[in-house]
Amino acid sequence: MRFLVALSAALIAFPALAQAAGEVNIYSSRHYDTDERLYSDFEEATGITVNRIEDEANVLIERIKAEGANSPADILLTVDAGRLYQADQAGLFQPVESEVLEDRIPANLRHPDGHWFGFSTRARVIFYDKARVDPADIQTYASLADPKLKGLVCTRSSSNIYMLSLMAAIIEHVGEEQAKAWAEGVWANRARDPEGGDTDQLRAIASGQCAIAISNTYYFARALSSDVRDLANPDDTDRIGIVFPDQDGEGTHVNVSAGGVVANAPNRDNAVAFLEYLSSDAAQKYFADGNNEYPVVEGVEASSAVESLGAFEADDLPLIALGENQARAQAIYNEVGYQ
Ligand code: FE
Repeated sequence: MRFLVALSAALIAFPALAQAAGEVNIYSSRHYDTDERLYSDFEEATGITVNRIEDEANVLIERIKAEGANSPADILLTVDAGRLYQADQAGLFQPVESEVLEDRIPANLRHPDGHWFGFSTRARVIFYDKARVDPADIQTYASLADPKLKGLVCTRSSSNIYMLSLMAAIIEHVGEEQAKAWAEGVWANRARDPEGGDTDQLRAIASGQCAIAISNTYYFARALSSDVRDLANPDDTDRIGIVFPDQDGEGTHVNVSAGGVVANAPNRDNAVAFLEYLSSDAAQKYFADGNNEYPVVEGVEASSAVESLGAFEADDLPLIALGENQARAQAIYNEVGYQ
């Protein structure tokens, strides 16, 4: 009986599910416990079996390329509009028209022709050592290039997709010349040469090696959670402050966890049904909470750990621009010697 209630509710919300049967094959770079519930709820509501392959994004992309027209992949789920752009340029996605997805997902967080859709967002923000930095000095991305921050700033390597996407957004807003000056300034202000991922930049604030760092929000939200010891000790997070940059300007740079239907998807209708399901209120909650991200659908709340980071205005730049400017972004970093 519970199944029937869930099913009919799903059919009202998502008419595409009415023709559902069979399976859907998802290639995903996600690996969160909450996703189990995400998939089992979908299976229960639709009768569609979810098969998953989980691996690094680049491995999955290469695998789909290698499998070619015979690829069993229906959906590719991964993060960052810059990486989605790379997959799209390789012809891995097909266009999807869906009133549900177009209705529920803000236009700037999806591909204009439906090649991919963002299902949660992360913000790329500035963290700082409360004992060493006045947050008034770091209210914008531009401020990180100010010579008065010499020797204080840490980022990961410029070849990382998050750094490329941030630079791509800066290019879009201020043009290549100013973007280059920014890269030059931030590089000159480095506390050390880039090493490690975003969590390593936070660790380096905790250890005193860096006073300021750029990181995605979810790494800090994860560190705040009591059962994850990403930082050496729980007190370390007390030492770290957060700034959502550019609140009086373009807004804070955000990116997406996203999915699209693969070009040769053998179960196309089921794939669309699954993406539509991901935009439902219940799935949004699980999807976003799994990695401490922000739901994209209006009215769905983020987890309390994520809410505790504070409210902010996001940059509403269409994320396709992050891919379109990607090659220029890497070229600018290279030109100024930003490793
Ligand atoms: Fe990440």
